[in-house]
Amino acid sequence: MDAEKYTRKLAMVCPTCGGDQFQYEKGVDETIQVVRCACCEREMTKDELMRENSENISAHMEEIGQEALKDAAKEIKQMLKDAFKGSDFIKVK
Ligand SMILES: [Zn+2]
Repeated sequence: MDAEKYTRKLAMVCPTCGGDQFQYEKGVDETIQVVRCACCEREMTKDELMRENSENISAHMEEIGQEALKDAAKEIKQMLKDAFKGSDFIKVK
């Protein structure tokens, strides 16, 4: 696997500075792999980085979720309206 591509695919940001470029330092054990932010040089384990990011992501998802919920409710109402509007043409045998 191309290590550089993999790094970019992570799409994680540094909790300190928001930078998204990281350097990997392969530890002895993969679970204690250390990443270093290329921007502020903060070092943290990959787990730490993922945990920090998952908090951000879930907070962000909640915001998106509420917006999406509103939109979905609108869409569902419209769909029901359309469905009932069309029901005149449905002939049940
Ligand atoms: Zn940073």
